[in-house]
Order: sequence, then C-alpha cells, then structure tokens
Amino acid sequence: MKAEHVKDDLSSILFTKEQIAEKVSELAQRIDHDYQGRDVLLVGVLKGAVPIMADLMRQLDGQYPMDWMAVSSYGSGTKSSGVVRILKDLDTDLHGKDVLIVEDVIDSGLTLSWLRTNLESRGTSSVEICALLRKPEAMKTSIDVRYVGWDIPNEFVVGYGLDFAEQYRNLDCIATLAPHVYE
Ligand code: 5GP
Ligand code: MG
Ligand code: MG
Repeated sequence: MKAEHVKDDLSSILFTKEQIAEKVSELAQRIDHDYQGRDVLLVGVLKGAVPIMADLMRQLDGQYPMDWMAVSSYGSGTKSSGVVRILKDLDTDLHGKDVLIVEDVIDSGLTLSWLRTNLESRGTSSVEICALLRKPEAMKTSIDVRYVGWDIPNEFVVGYGLDFAEQYRNLDCIATLAPHVYE
C-alpha cells in the first residue's frame, strides 16, 4: 500500500520504499561478508519482521535458512509491557548454529534482550541481531545490536511490517502516525 491511500492518518514519512531497499541491501552486504562459510540461521520475529526478512534474504548471496518465532510484548497499543511470552517457537535445533535474529524495530530492547538470552541457552555458537530501526532514547536495557538500519527518535512508527492494531503493516514506507489515530 502506498502512503497516498492513508495520507490523513500519517504525520510524516521517515523512510521511502527506495531508501528502505537501499538500506536493506547495505545490511545484506555486511552480513554476507561477516557470515561467509558459517552455519547460519536467520530467525525472524513475527509479524513485524516479515517484510525485512523477505527483502533481506533475497539480497543475501550465501545460503541462509530461516525460521520464525512469535513472541508477545505489546498488545494492540503502543507501550511495551516488558513481559515476553513465546506464542510460536522455532522448529530448528540451534546447537552449533550462528543465529542472526531479524527484527523490525528495537524500542525498549526488552523483547530482544530476553530473546537473545533464550536462544543462547539452546547451544548456539553465536547470537547476533539485525534490526531495521532502533530508538536509542527508548532503550531500557543495554543490548548489543550488530546490524542497525537507522536510529530514529522515540516516536511510534508504522509501515513496512510495523502495525498499529494490525493496521498499516502493508504500507510500503515507514511513517509516523498522526495523533488522531491513536488518541
Ligand atoms: P521492545 O521490546 O524493544 O520495546 O519492542 C518490541 C516490539 O514492539 C517491536 O519488535 C515491535 O513489534 C513493537 N514496537 C516497538 N516500537 C514500535 C513502533 O514504533 N511501532 C510499531 N508499530 N511497533 C513497535
Ligand atoms: Mg518486532
Ligand atoms: Mg505490533
């Protein structure tokens, strides 16, 4: 979906579809360089990471199997609960694997911090994180993220997988929501 179809709901466009494509391709080049010859598994976090996973994996030159997890951290609102629950677990045995978690956005960092510890306890060789967006001002825990697309201000964003109450995920750009939508 293009921004013009929901223009009254958006206050500004942070990144266009072209900017996102360029950034994802840069991330893919770095990942290919770092993971050459290793036994990698991409782990996507449903549902927000679906677009970045789909775009990133096709830009990667090596073989990268993928798997998915679903965890709950937010309800339909805009605030982190800090409580993480596994809704769907991986199908893959992680012993000896170099896991790369693929995420849409890091806000408080609580979800990823928990997820990394959880995956590390399964016998992985390494667990690193690739996130398209990060909000440094919102982070409540220090977490080492090897691949970050952009650092953004502490604002709620939608599009390219990111939802508000399951809406706007299929927007092709990343935008901030107009206050009337969530107030
Ligand atoms: P965290 O645990 O880092 O606070 O956030 C976990 C999840 O909350 C993210 O993976 C994402 O699904 C959701 N989230 C955080 N910030 C935003 C945002 O600005 N917009 C949307 N749509 N979801 C967000
Ligand atoms: Mg997410
Ligand atoms: Mg959400």
